[in-house]
Amino acid sequence: MEKRMNVSNTTLSYNRKGTIKFDAKQAIRHKFGKAHCTICDEVFTKLSHNAKVCGTKCKRERKSAYHKAYYEKNREKANAYAKAYHEKNREKLNAQSKAYHEKNPGYKKAYREKNREKIKASQRAYREKNRDKINAQRRVHRKKNRDKINRRRRADYVANPEKKKAAARAYSEKMRKNPEWVKKVNARNRKYREDNREKLNAKERARYHAKKKKESE
Ligand SMILES: [Zn+2]
Repeated sequence: MEKRMNVSNTTLSYNRKGTIKFDAKQAIRHKFGKAHCTICDEVFTKLSHNAKVCGTKCKRERKSAYHKAYYEKNREKANAYAKAYHEKNREKLNAQSKAYHEKNPGYKKAYREKNREKIKASQRAYREKNRDKINAQRRVHRKKNRDKINRRRRADYVANPEKKKAAARAYSEKMRKNPEWVKKVNARNRKYREDNREKLNAKERARYHAKKKKESE
């Protein structure tokens, strides 16, 4: 039951908004009977003719369900509005967010840890929806930063060759079950060999002579 505020010298509130005014000294002016709460299904005494729920808790739930339904129905509109607002106030919002994160350094990490599954699901959904866009972006990025990426990859490899080799082995082990992937990789390797035949032959010759020389020493 809803908590009542005890007041004197007031009219018993008929229009039930906020706290119910209650005065034990006054006679009850209206009787609205009983009803089943639309949220918890419990029988409650109606305090107005159109009461739907038994108390504050169920009232809150009913309201939140309504807002949720409204949001679902108007999602596009709400998203567009939020986006426009964000764009218009980008600097202000970014500054606010930055200030907040500086004040609460662990917040981001804690949020990520708490919502790991949710974040993953939303990222997955985004990737699935925007696959072409993402791939195009990636291609552009790789093309633009080819040297930097290659440098970093080489440095990574030099720093930890065993780990990288193991990772590559594990990856190809996993992917080898996929005939499409095998076909693709074989074609790529074939093309590389064809395109770099001279270079590869020279390398092979150098290796052969080096081995020979080492054996004769
Ligand atoms: Zn209820």
